[in-house]
Amino acid sequence: MHELIFLGTGCPNGSKQRGEASIFFDGLLLDCGNECADKLVSLNLINNINSILITHLHSDHIGDIGRLLSLIALNSTRLKTINLFSPPGFSKIMDKYTNMSEILSYFSEKIHIELHEGLIKNKYIGGKIISSYEMNHNVEDYGYLIEFDGTKLFYTGDTRKCAIPIKVDYVIHDSMSTESEKGIVDDTGHSTAKDAALFARDVDAKVLFLTHINNDWISNNTELIDEAKMHFNGEIYIAEDFARFSLKSKSELYSSLRKNRNSIKKDRV
Ligand SMILES: [Zn+2]
Ligand SMILES: [Zn+2]
Repeated sequence: MHELIFLGTGCPNGSKQRGEASIFFDGLLLDCGNECADKLVSLNLINNINSILITHLHSDHIGDIGRLLSLIALNSTRLKTINLFSPPGFSKIMDKYTNMSEILSYFSEKIHIELHEGLIKNKYIGGKIISSYEMNHNVEDYGYLIEFDGTKLFYTGDTRKCAIPIKVDYVIHDSMSTESEKGIVDDTGHSTAKDAALFARDVDAKVLFLTHINNDWISNNTELIDEAKMHFNGEIYIAEDFARFSLKSKSELYSSLRKNRNSIKKDRV
């Protein structure tokens, strides 16, 4: 089973309901915002991480890296290699943030970090193929394409409306707010629900997850969904902290879409 688990789905202004950016998928940790390490411990997943994919170097995406690496090392009974992918500059930032070099030398028998800075193409990691694409944020941000069982999942990190030259099945997209706040959303390098929907439409996705959602939308997020629905006719979900979704293989995904279409036709007869 390929399960997507949202750990943090909010903006950095913080709230109890939505933590900072982090998603777990099949041994991969996508971003590492504050408190993600403790969430992984509570879900008993800390030993399951084999790679960390960092979209960009803003604190709400890397703030928990020191604690995460120490917990991985503390919970490991033998030397474990963690692949860490990031835009350039990660090692310098991490030294400032958490004194990573100290942590790593202390735990050098338990953890080895294989750091890959810069864009990657078709890296084979744990049965998946991973590539990265440049997005459009206020700092260098990489979106990650993860291919498994013929299925393609794409995670944007933080981005304004942008385009990639590929087709994918599942999209996890920044969706800070709606078009009503387009000015501030653009200025801060983020997307509206409409931007996210247009991205999903352009890559021919079947399912769109909206994440990195501003606090204003905690109690009422129907406007986000309604705005996205106007521009994308696949399935749309608002990500919530601790929400889980089973992702289907390509063949399962298409057979379920065919079934849905047939049942819609029947309903119309
Ligand atoms: Zn950011
Ligand atoms: Zn962010």
